[in-house]
Amino acid sequence: MIADTGDKAVKVRRQVEIPVLGGRYLATFITFDNLADGKEHFALALGDWHREKPLVRMHSECVTGDVFMSARCDCGPQLEEAIVRISAEGGLILYLRQEGRGIGLINKLDAYALQDQGMNTYEANRALGFEDDQRDFAVAAEMLKSLGVDHIRLLTNNPRKIEQLTGNGIHVDDRVGTRVYRNDHNARYLAAKKEEGHHALDTDDDSCCPAHSKF
Ligand SMILES: [Zn+2]
Repeated sequence: MIADTGDKAVKVRRQVEIPVLGGRYLATFITFDNLADGKEHFALALGDWHREKPLVRMHSECVTGDVFMSARCDCGPQLEEAIVRISAEGGLILYLRQEGRGIGLINKLDAYALQDQGMNTYEANRALGFEDDQRDFAVAAEMLKSLGVDHIRLLTNNPRKIEQLTGNGIHVDDRVGTRVYRNDHNARYLAAKKEEGHHALDTDDDSCCPAHSKF
């Protein structure tokens, strides 16, 4: 039997410009055909992204944080920081549809309920029968390759993301740390990310993103 590979390569489907953050930044939203898991992942191209070693952020969907600016995590301000910094330097945000570290919104809220009884974010996921982190960044590498990008600077505090991209053929030439957005509600969550998730949260910068528009 002949392997059906010809039509299944990941390719860019559409590129559409959308002004974001109230029109302060212009993003090109890029959709793809044939992504391996069939989910609606997309990319935002910002600034001069065709430069050598564009700055890239892999951002996993967080409805509570990204849309509602939840203070239980730091996703909202991190996404906004990524838009601001990457617009200035030129690069891409890969917006990955893996809510709640890959367990989905309903399970994430189940995990929140367990956290309210004293578990940390990793313990709660395990109690529900999930791995600490179910996310898979292979699809991000597919997106980058289809855009002709194989050398990047990665905006992250999470060493696991570097390993996953490198293992899928993307050269991460530099890691650029994100700021840490600590508040009374997410302090325990961030401590668990540092201790159990080995995130490099060295910066002790408690101030929120000055460009933040939704608070
Ligand atoms: Zn979040």
